[in-house]
Amino acid sequence: MLRCLFLALIGIFSAVSNTCAAENDFFVQPLNDALKKEITGISFPASKAPLVIGYDDLVYIHVLHYDFNHQVKEGRLICHKRIGEKVLSVFRELYKAKYPIEKIRLIDDYNGDDEASMQDNNTSCFNYRKIAGSNKLSNHSFGLALDLNPLYNPYVRQTKTKTVVSPKTAAAYADRDKDFPHKIDRNDPAYRAFVKQGFTWGGDWQSVKDYQHFEYPNYAVANASSPALPSWLAPENASDVDSKAVAEQNLYFIGSSQAPDLRLCLKSAETRAVQKLTAEITGQTSENTSVTLNGVSTAGEYWEKRTYQKELGAEKDYTGYKCDVVVKISQTDAVDALKAYRNQTPEGPLDKSNRH
Ligand SMILES: [Zn+2]
Repeated sequence: MLRCLFLALIGIFSAVSNTCAAENDFFVQPLNDALKKEITGISFPASKAPLVIGYDDLVYIHVLHYDFNHQVKEGRLICHKRIGEKVLSVFRELYKAKYPIEKIRLIDDYNGDDEASMQDNNTSCFNYRKIAGSNKLSNHSFGLALDLNPLYNPYVRQTKTKTVVSPKTAAAYADRDKDFPHKIDRNDPAYRAFVKQGFTWGGDWQSVKDYQHFEYPNYAVANASSPALPSWLAPENASDVDSKAVAEQNLYFIGSSQAPDLRLCLKSAETRAVQKLTAEITGQTSENTSVTLNGVSTAGEYWEKRTYQKELGAEKDYTGYKCDVVVKISQTDAVDALKAYRNQTPEGPLDKSNRH
């Protein structure tokens, strides 16, 4: 920083001083009194009842970003201190890449109203609130989740009769097969920057999709079966496993679940993997199939021992295992399984065997 100051003072290169200014504009610090006052009664409840989070758990993060008119703007965020430096790294990277983010304001500028903030396409992190339509605190309440360009990356939930989109004004961006600017997907620099720092993406969720949402896990990995995630589990590959694996690798499949005991956890993951494999072979959802697969074997497994923390949004403090298993079946066994299934099903499923 001193070197920056010196170069700026003697004014050798204005470009150098600009770079230095940018570096100094990215920082993390504890909440000062003015900021505590600004958020109390809005994003931070004024209530005397005990909260899951205190001022000391939070940090203020100051960044720069490019807006949609390619102008450099200041951004203000409040997040959990555990992710302060990680969030800073993400926004530094996005700034360098000139990644367009329309606004980064505290949700208090919107009176804590998430819908209003999303409709205004505001990027934000901490907000002490329940998950919409539930009694559970959102990970935003812990400052462990961040919504990026939310108007173009809405929350989307499919019910039997309709598609629920949030914010309400984002219907045009709910169809992710369409191409439009500011769409976050797996090729997006923001996706890559967050995942690199250990965040997960709401666009990867199975039941609902929250394309604006990145969150940091509420657990710490105490121990794992290997120091690095296997490539078949890496976030950038995980979504491809189903289709690519079926086509090229004799039906590999990932199963995943959680259990208090390692043996049970692996068993449960394997059961799920076999169910998915069964569904793939028969073309039926696993609940509707009773075919027994012969010749299935485990091709790979990975487990983590995790300590979940209530103060970080887990239901309670506990230690559990999370396991992933890949199973495979030979082509011959797969064809036999399909034949056996057809023999016991009057109408017979779609012929999937020709894809091998
Ligand atoms: Zn969110």
